[in-house]
Amino acid sequence: MALLRLRYFGDPVLTTRAQEVDRIDESIRAFAGDMLATMDASRGVGLAANQVGVAKRVFVYGCQGMRGVLINPVWQPVGEAYQTGSEGCLSVPGVRGEVTRHQDVLARGVDEFGRPVVIRASGLLARCIQHETDHLDGVLFLTRMEPAQRKAAMAEIRAAEWFQA
Ligand SMILES: [Zn+2]
Repeated sequence: MALLRLRYFGDPVLTTRAQEVDRIDESIRAFAGDMLATMDASRGVGLAANQVGVAKRVFVYGCQGMRGVLINPVWQPVGEAYQTGSEGCLSVPGVRGEVTRHQDVLARGVDEFGRPVVIRASGLLARCIQHETDHLDGVLFLTRMEPAQRKAAMAEIRAAEWFQA
């Protein structure tokens, strides 16, 4: 198991749409294991492949007692409820902002062995699934903030030590 290097806001891989995985093999399993280890070491609840510089449709999650790998994920809302809450991102360290997401979602994909996965998620896990799938589409949570919050977040980013313009 290896820890992977996190990519930060400003790295073009974060605004790149990741490509579908067409082969589930040992290299994907090793990569998924490294992603889980990296997520844990960073104390995240989710991590998308772009965040470690790999433009493939893979994310890992760990919250609400659920933990795993989702490859080629798709999701749809369940019902019409929304949640608004503080959200952060390992690729934008130290910056948080309010983001509105669907409260309940149904996600599908395959795991690292190619087995079909269906997840019915609420609350934080539902937020995580939406946030991580956004990453795979090259979309950061900053885009989902209200304009005033996004402006404040951008000011924080520009002042951050990790940010290189
Ligand atoms: Zn993120």
